[in-house]
Amino acid sequence: MVTAIDEIRRIAGAIPDPEMPALTIADLGILRDVRMDGSGHVDVDITPTYSGCPALDVIREDVERCIRDQGYTDVAVRVVLSPAWTTEWMSEAGRVKLREYGIAPPRQQLFDLQALKIAVECPRCDSPRTHELAHFGSTQCQAVRRCDACGETFPHFKEH
Ligand SMILES: [Zn+2]
Repeated sequence: MVTAIDEIRRIAGAIPDPEMPALTIADLGILRDVRMDGSGHVDVDITPTYSGCPALDVIREDVERCIRDQGYTDVAVRVVLSPAWTTEWMSEAGRVKLREYGIAPPRQQLFDLQALKIAVECPRCDSPRTHELAHFGSTQCQAVRRCDACGETFPHFKEH
């Protein structure tokens, strides 16, 4: 059975990220929790991908409006900064969408810093031989890399 909370979570989770509209806030793991008390008051927790994220106010307003539109007028959207967002929270669907969008997804750290040495693969040809051209791309979350195999220049969603 789909509960009201599940429904709110599904619809709010489908809101696109303002900086990367190909991904939803659920894909990115920005939507942390949705709760409702007996009186119908809805609490939502969101965590930005990095503190000072300029898209945060937009996301907060989108979530609030989207839930009000479903008839739940008593909504509080809370920004939770601790624990800090990590690329580990990105869903598998989110990683697949990034790749389809031509952005190399963050590497999974698996709590092992050695794993950070694993290659960033080119989203066009899958070659692991890529190098960083610039640490910051179109957003602070992304770096710009070039593939040594096919010459493609592509963004990489950095692990953090
Ligand atoms: Zn390539």
